[in-house]
This record gives sequence, structure tokens and C-alpha cells, in this order.
Amino acid sequence: MRGLSLHRVGWRHALRLPPQRRCASTKLPSEPARHVDFSALDAKWQAQWGRWKREEDTTPAKSGHGGKHKEKAYILPMFPYPSGTLHLGHLRVYTISDVLARFKQLQGCDVLHPIGWDAFGLPAENAAIERGVHPEKWTLQNIEAMKEQMMAMGGRWDWDREIRTCDPAYYKHNQLIFLQLLERGLAYQAESLVNYDPVDKTVLANEQVDANGCSWRSGAKVQKIMLKQWFLKIKEYQDSLLDDLKLLALGGNWPERVIAQQRNWLGKSEGTKLTFDVQSTEGQRPLDPIRVFTTRADTLFGVHYVALSLNHPIVTELADKDASLRNFLLQAQILPPDSKEGYLLPNVTAINPMSELIPSVDRAVPVYVAPYVLDYGYSAVMGVPGHDTRDNAFWRANAGNSPIRKVITSELIEDSTLLKTEPVNDQPMTEKGYIVPDIEGFSGLFSDWAVDKVIKLLQEAGKDAEKVENWRLRDWLISRQRYWGTPIPVIHCDSCGPVPVPEEDLPVTLPDLPDSFFQGRSGNPLAEDTNWKKTACPKCGSSAERETDTMDTFMDSSWYFFRFLDPHNEAKPVGSDKAKNMPVDIYVGGVEHAILHLLYARFISKFFKTLGWWPHLEDDQAHGEPFRRLITQGMVHGKTYSDPETGRFLRPDEVDFTNSSSPVMKSTKASPNVSYEKMSKSKYNGVDPGATIAKYGADVTRAHMLFQAPISDVLDWDESSITGVQRWLTRVIRLSNAASATYRNSGYEPLEDLDQPWLQLLLQLSRQEILPAIALDGVNMGHSEGARFIARLEPAEQHFWARIQEVIASVTQSYSETYSLNTIVSDLMTLTNHIEDEPHISDTMVYLKYLATAHLLRMTAPIAPAVAEESWEVLRQGTNGPSSIFDAGFPVAEVDLIPLLRATRPCVFTVNGKKKFEVIMRKPSNELLKSGKVELANWVLEHLQRFDEGKEWLEHGIGKLWTIAGTNERNRDIPSLPTGYTAVVAKKGQLVNIVPPKKKKKAATEDVDS
Ligand SMILES: [Zn+2]
Repeated sequence: MRGLSLHRVGWRHALRLPPQRRCASTKLPSEPARHVDFSALDAKWQAQWGRWKREEDTTPAKSGHGGKHKEKAYILPMFPYPSGTLHLGHLRVYTISDVLARFKQLQGCDVLHPIGWDAFGLPAENAAIERGVHPEKWTLQNIEAMKEQMMAMGGRWDWDREIRTCDPAYYKHNQLIFLQLLERGLAYQAESLVNYDPVDKTVLANEQVDANGCSWRSGAKVQKIMLKQWFLKIKEYQDSLLDDLKLLALGGNWPERVIAQQRNWLGKSEGTKLTFDVQSTEGQRPLDPIRVFTTRADTLFGVHYVALSLNHPIVTELADKDASLRNFLLQAQILPPDSKEGYLLPNVTAINPMSELIPSVDRAVPVYVAPYVLDYGYSAVMGVPGHDTRDNAFWRANAGNSPIRKVITSELIEDSTLLKTEPVNDQPMTEKGYIVPDIEGFSGLFSDWAVDKVIKLLQEAGKDAEKVENWRLRDWLISRQRYWGTPIPVIHCDSCGPVPVPEEDLPVTLPDLPDSFFQGRSGNPLAEDTNWKKTACPKCGSSAERETDTMDTFMDSSWYFFRFLDPHNEAKPVGSDKAKNMPVDIYVGGVEHAILHLLYARFISKFFKTLGWWPHLEDDQAHGEPFRRLITQGMVHGKTYSDPETGRFLRPDEVDFTNSSSPVMKSTKASPNVSYEKMSKSKYNGVDPGATIAKYGADVTRAHMLFQAPISDVLDWDESSITGVQRWLTRVIRLSNAASATYRNSGYEPLEDLDQPWLQLLLQLSRQEILPAIALDGVNMGHSEGARFIARLEPAEQHFWARIQEVIASVTQSYSETYSLNTIVSDLMTLTNHIEDEPHISDTMVYLKYLATAHLLRMTAPIAPAVAEESWEVLRQGTNGPSSIFDAGFPVAEVDLIPLLRATRPCVFTVNGKKKFEVIMRKPSNELLKSGKVELANWVLEHLQRFDEGKEWLEHGIGKLWTIAGTNERNRDIPSLPTGYTAVVAKKGQLVNIVPPKKKKKAATEDVDS
């Protein structure tokens, strides 16, 4: 330490210029707030990125993709439906994915960030019917319009991988995948009662019917009709679809909410299968036994009825001869799913299987048809009104006040006389409990044991009873009776049945129909096109017909993320060498796709794995899961004005915005109600992102959007606060100009490598004799070279650099782990102020501020790419570094430095609670903090005397405190203080308060204050 001090003295002498002369000013020149034309920056840099991309494409060595040694990063937003207009929700999801992709690019990854179009689907076909224009024409126009809007937002997209699902080159592979499924028995045709949307005239999957029985798209009441349909056996994969949710939940990689929704949709439950024989008193053909699934076989003794779903085979059979049943079924279609309506099947009873073994159990129970019984499991339930809420309500609605038998009690009851007949309005007891005493052989048995015993006894009696799993998941119905989708590649032959179209004949393309064909048309155009339908059977050559159903468009989106890896492969959906780049690292999209799309995508990805199309690697952790990390962004809500009197939504032209902070209604001059709501035409609260970008520029719009809310929260879009972000980005540009100028004026050499270890940079400074001598006495931070170098810096320089490192660490974590992009914007805003406000106390500080600005720009680049490029160009002029900031690397926090840089901190010296001075001094060690108060006080006071201010107050005999005390006699415990005085050290040594002796308190205080 002593040697170093001498060395320091030598340094001071060696400095050619005193610091004051070398430092131009204490602060960056504060230029007047120059107007920055952000749109011009967008135009300049978007054009430049285009030129660089073309250069890169023609220079294979420079090409990013396919680079051998780079880590790959596959960042994907859910691809858009080409509606024709980009809305703020789109802008939000694409901004998030673009920011993450650009961050990965800065980190040196081989980034894949593709975009395409989910281009098939009903809206195009409906538009065609309304306007008499071919769906393809309409779709392609929309794609062009949206592409232009997407270019404007400054995204870095791999346009050379763009795909459109309505392109035969794409949907050929839908057909290929279908044929593979068919070959493996995973695609099949079945007659089934389907959900039919009478408005869109198509069949819907169960998932597309909402809780009220309405179509998810048209809102029409869904009807049930029988149709032969194509299904995919997703149930074959249900176990892995459920089990692998655990994998996705690890480390919060998928949002908990989405995991829960998937688990619920799969709906696995464990229970018991029981069989009720059926008795018919009408001498007709005997009916098949009824199978039921129950999770509470212990309540079998209390069964009052059996209920069948509307589509149960017995119901279908009986409906043939029972007109009133047919009538009921017709009416039941429009009943809500929680309806308590029921139809009592006349002359039919079900036999409780337990009644033969235990005489006290009711033998024959009535059988109902009820809409509340869902079409899954066995489409039948045993009704136990004493122990199930829904059964109870149904029984009361259909059987009136007849007594209900309870067979489970919450408390163990040994004497059956204690059981009373329940009053009619008594609630069901739904908890598990103990079997009542009057059930022979079961009395007092707990529910779980009773279930086991029920199964055992029934099996011993030769009856059908066993523990089974039940799933809510149904097979995936993919048939749609519409034009604008992928034709199902099957040919129906009278003699051969359904025959797959040979692979070499793919794609089966849609017929090219004239625009006028679509005008005002309903029904399935393929079924009506006899020319297209007619073909020869591939097996026997005789005349045959094509399948006229097209595929659900969820098929298109169930594997498109594979296609981006190999978009031009004609033979296969994806080559196995390219598929190795799966899974998608980060998938960004709306939570509204949490069930259907994600479930189907997981299913088809797992099927690709089965086929080997997605090859199995040795270190494979993916389990055929396509999306490693899922980010679901929140919705964007628009500012909505309504009349407080009537609640009517107001058009923008009905509101006077002259005073922007308190707008008034033009008609009444009253203040309108203001709220944020889902954007819709009827609320006049839509915002055109194109207009916002044109007004403020892409970077400001992006940063504002990210800054306003965490990405998964609802974003209330409010443009009035956008000026804050505008000012920030203006300051970033101004700071870069100033830092660049000051740096060069100070005579520094251009700094080529920004990312060499910071201590090495300091070493270079010391060799150039720029790093000034240590300014802080009493600093002893150990003997490591790094610590010694750091000790030569001013405390302000140390603290400045510690702050920079802390921000880099925090921002890196936000970009790569927590995705709290709003925090990044606020961190960078604070950092910009911090750099700008830091006084130029030394040459070293000029150097550090230059370096800090370079780090700031690279951290800002993913969010505001054009601003960052522009600032970078200024900052880095004269160096041979990369031209684009995106090739300059992302700063890496040297976290090990932080404790060394933070080894000092302020200490406030007070007397009787009044502040006298503050110095920056070394932190006391942890041992010292744990030791006694006296030891700590002695340590702090001794260290304070190494500063001028400390000497002024504490120097023995002559310091102010000694003068006030009027004595030279030292305190016995704390010799730095006069006798009678004590010291209280607080905040881990950051505050020391001197307490004068009590007797002299008044006088002492007055003296001290003077
Ligand atoms: Zn044939």
C-alpha cells in the first residue's frame, strides 16, 4: 500500500497536463433540445439494413444463417391472419418478438425470426361471398397491405422464409401429413353428430363452440346434425400431451395459466366404470346395458336414476319409435348446457348392479335423457341426488319432492336409528365420508375403501366394474364443408371405399373458380363443382369422386414453425437436417390461443417426432415439444369516451379535445366518461398503428408501447404520454454526440474493442498516464491487482462504473430471463440521465462516460434500432469497429467488479442529530458489523480522521469537538472522543451521530450549532 502511494505521487508528476485543463467542462454541453426527425431516421436505417442484407446474401461467408459456430436462436411470433390491417395488438406482439430477436442478434446468435401468413379460413370466404371476389385475390391483397405496414415498424424479419398457408406449395404438405396420419390409423372417418354453424354453414370442433352453445366465430346458435366426418386421433397422444406439461412448466417456461388450461382441456380423471342392466317393460328388443363413469362409486347405494346424453345410442334407437322423445331432442338443442330439463324414458328402467348383492339398495331406477349429460366418457351418468349438486337439482326439477336417500355421512354413525329422513330442501353432502349403518357389509367404511370394496364385490359376482381413466379430450374433427382450406386428399370409390390420393399426385389443388361464383353463395363450393369432384380411383381406375371436405385451418398452423426452417423443400414438410433446429426458443402470441392452437401444434410436433421427421438427438430434452418458452402478451385497450348520461359511446368528432387534459362533449360541454376497453368499431376507440408510426416514428412507438405495461398485462394505449419516450430518445442521440465529441477532444485514441475486460482498459489508461492517482485515503481493498487499480479511481468514478455494471446485469436479465421489457426502458432512461448528469471530474470520467454511452446504445438497440444505429454511427466514427450496431455485441456485465467498485460508500457525520459533513469512505467489514458497537464506533471514527473534514472535527485537542468539550481528556472506550461524549453508529456505518454528555447538553448543542 505504501509503495503504491509513492507510485501515485510519481503519477501526479508524470501527468503532462493538469486534469482541469484536459477536461473541457464538468458536464456534457447541454445543447438546446434539438428536434429529431424520427421518421427520417427510420427511412435512413431501414434502407441501410436493406443494403446490408443484400450484401450479406451475396457474400455467403458473411451470411448469418447456417453459421456453424453460432448458437441458434429461433424467435417466433404467432403468424397473423391476413385481415388487411395491422392493429395495435399485432404491433405489440411483433414488437416484443422483434426486440427479443434483435437482442439475440446482438448477443451474437444465429437468429431466425420469420414471418408468414395464416391465409386460409372463413373470413376470406365470407368476404368473397359478400363482395364477389375470389378469396385468394382478397387474401393476397391483404397480405401485401399488411406486409407494408410491418415493414414500417422497423422489424428485422427473415422475409426470404415467408410462407402463405394458402399456397399449394405449402398445403401440399398438409395433405402429406394427413396421408401419414391416415397410413398409421391416426386419421379416420366416422359418422358423427356434429356441431353445425347454420350461419357459416360449416361444422365446428367442440372447441369452437362456446359455453352457451354458440359458434366462436359467427355467434350463431350451434345445431347438432349427423355427418360423416374426418377425425385425427389426438387421443392417441393424450398421455404425453399431459405428462409433458410438467416439462413446460419447469422454470416458468410456459405461463401457469396456459398449463392449467391445457391440463383442464385434456381433462384426465380417474374413477370407476359401472354397468347398469336395462329392463324394458314393452316387450321390445332388449336394450344394451348402460355404462357409466363415476369418481364416486361409494355413492352407488344412493342412485335414484340414470341419465343419458342426447346422443347416447339407446336414445338414438328409442327416438325412432318415440315421437315425443324426438320432439324433446329437437328442443333440447337450444337449451343451455346447465339446463335441468329431462325426458323420462317410458317403460325403461336401469338395474342397480349392487341391488343383487345388498337387498336394501333400490333395484330399478328410472332412466332420463338430459342435456346436462355431456358427450364424453360413456355419455351417461348415475344420478345421486343425495351426494351431487347437479344431480340434486335435476332430481328436484324432474321428480319433485320425493325423498332423497343419503348413504354417506360426514361423521361416523353406528346406530341407524339416528338417521332421519332428510327434509326435501336439504343440500347434497358432496364430501367424502362414512357409509351409513344400514348398508350391509359397508357400514362405517370410509369412501375410498368403500369404492375398492364395491369394485371387488361386483367383480366377484361376475359384473362389469373396474377402475378406469376418463378424458375430456375428444379426437380432433378436421372436416370443414368450405372452399378456402386444404382439400382432404382422399378419393371415394364405390368398390374400393375411401382411397388415399397417391403422394405423387399431390397437391390436390382447389378448383380455380371465377369471382362471380362466390357472390351471395352458401354451402360448400367443392361439393357443387362436379368437374373438380369427378376423378378416377387410384386403385381400380373406375370413376370415383374426390372428398369435398377441406381441413380445419388449425391444421395449417399446427406445424408451420417447422416449415420456416426449410421453406422451399418440395419433397417433405421439413428436412430432418433442418428440423434439428427445433424447438422454437421463444414463441410469442395471444393467450386466446392457449388451448386449441397450442394443443394441436404440440400433437403434430409429437407426430413429427414419431415419424422421425423431427429427428431424435442424443441430448434431446424437448420430448417433441415445439415451443421451449411461451410468452403470452396482454391485449391492447383503447381510450373510450362515453356519454355519462346515456352510456352511449362517443365518436372522436363528438368530443372537443382543445384542452387535451380535460376534453368535453361538443353537444353538452359536459365531461365524457373515459375508460379503456377492448378496441372495437362500435366503441370508436380503435387506433391505427400506421398513423402512430407515421407521426412519431417506429422507434418512439415501439419504446412507448413497451414502456407502458409489462408484456403480459393489458396495455391501456394512451398516446398523450408518448412525449416522455420521445424526449428520452432525443437525449440518447444528444448524449452520443456529446460523448463522442468530448472523447475525441480529450485526445484519446479511438477505442477499438469495447468489450475487453475493464481492468485491462484501466491498465491501458495507466500506461498512457491518464489514470490519475488515488484520491481516497484509507482505502485498503486487499492485494489483488484489480482492487489496487480500482483504488486509483475517484469514488465518484467507482460509483459511476458500478452503476453501469448493475444496469447491464439487470437489463440482460430482463431481456433474457424475465422479459420485463418495460423495466428495461425505465432502466435505460435512468441510465441516460445518470451518464448525462455525471460531472466530468477527470479524464478518466470522460473515458468512462464514452464507454458507458457505447454500452447504453447497445442495450437500447433492440428497442429503438434506428436511433441506436444513428447514435452509434456518430459515437464510433474514426474506429474500425462494425458498421452496424447489431454486429457490435451486447455488453456483458462484469459483476465481479461491482463489490470492488462498491467497497466505498457515503458516511454522514452528525452531532446531536445535526449533519456536519459527509465523506465517501470504505465499508466496514461484515466481521466488524457483527462485533460490538464500541469496536464499530472506534473503526468509523478512526477512518473519518483520514479526511480533512474528519480532522477538522475530531483531531485530538484541536478538533472542533474537543474545543466544544473544553477538555483534552479522552473517552475511555472511544479514545477519538472527549470524555463524556459517545457515538451512535447506524445504517451499517453510513451514519455516525455524536452524543454530547447530558449535563452539558444545552451548552454543547448551542456551541455546536453556532
Ligand atoms: Zn376403386
